[in-house]
Amino acid sequence: MSLTSPAQLIDSFDRRISYLRLSVTDRCDFRCQYCMAETMEFLPRAQVLTIEELIRTARLFTELGVRKIRVTGGEPLIRRGVDELFAGLGELPSLETLALTTNGSQLAARASQLREAGVSSVNISLDSLDPTRFRTITRIGHLDAVMKGIDAAIATGFKRIRLNAVILDGLNRDEALPLTRFAIDKNIHIAFIEEMPLGQVNVGGKALTYVSSDELKTELEQHFELRALNSRANAGPSRDFRIAGTGTEVGFISPHSHNFCAQCNRLRISAEGRLLMCLGNEQSIDLRDLLRAGRSDEDIKTTIMESLPIK
Ligand code: SAM
Ligand code: SF4
Repeated sequence: MSLTSPAQLIDSFDRRISYLRLSVTDRCDFRCQYCMAETMEFLPRAQVLTIEELIRTARLFTELGVRKIRVTGGEPLIRRGVDELFAGLGELPSLETLALTTNGSQLAARASQLREAGVSSVNISLDSLDPTRFRTITRIGHLDAVMKGIDAAIATGFKRIRLNAVILDGLNRDEALPLTRFAIDKNIHIAFIEEMPLGQVNVGGKALTYVSSDELKTELEQHFELRALNSRANAGPSRDFRIAGTGTEVGFISPHSHNFCAQCNRLRISAEGRLLMCLGNEQSIDLRDLLRAGRSDEDIKTTIMESLPIK
């Protein structure tokens, strides 16, 4: 990490760190098998950053060069004070992209307010088009609400909408193609994320296994022509392709089969305010302590700059 003027986050490859994922809650209204256990113990509220702390943190990072913030969770749209949060984030002067990752359950009611607050990019998780199977995967989610959320997002006119799908053998292996066709019909994008072993994924006592990006890509190539997109600056861990003759891009995010640490120049902040360099690096900084110790903005920024591990 080196210091430039004005203060900016620069990694050891001299890349400016411009992208931050901000988790605003650990709670969720779904219990997706690959993400959570059926019974969850969530953080006590006092341990989660307040809305004011989240907005201040976001501002400090924009002052350090962050230009894109993706709000995530848990499920961000069930966070109390979420409107105030997005309004505050939308007003940050040097933030260029305000993005959201959501399960879509609350999107029908919130899409236009989010757009007005300045959200331009929305990722919506969708692993099945079949209501019963959707329920099995999410344990308590309703497909109908998510479909309404997707339609509301499209009607609202976000700049970029992408579905995120996790495909598992023995659960929804046959849905990669229908989900891709669905994205094409809706004129939105889709990304397939290889499952990482976080939850307890088994159905009827049978453990389920992840499906590799290469296998899914090969399957889709039997039906569509996939044209590799030029790697954009800060393209991140997704390998993206345009589906020829459509407005849809398909991305493959491959934590198992293609180690993407070298491409990663992202930061993430957990709901309780821990700053982490990436999923694979356990080193973290307790921002909550800094925020609650009455330290000045400059002091906190200096501490962040000095204590981030060199990538
Ligand atoms: N609740 C929101 C949602 O589902 O979109 C935002 C948070 S969720 C943790 C963000 C993304 O991570 C979702 O697209 C979800 O499918 C993905 N995800 C969760 N657990 C995963 C796992 N074990 N492996 C791969 N992706 C996972
Ligand atoms: Fe909730 Fe998203 Fe995890 Fe599913 S993937 S349990 S919707 S946080």
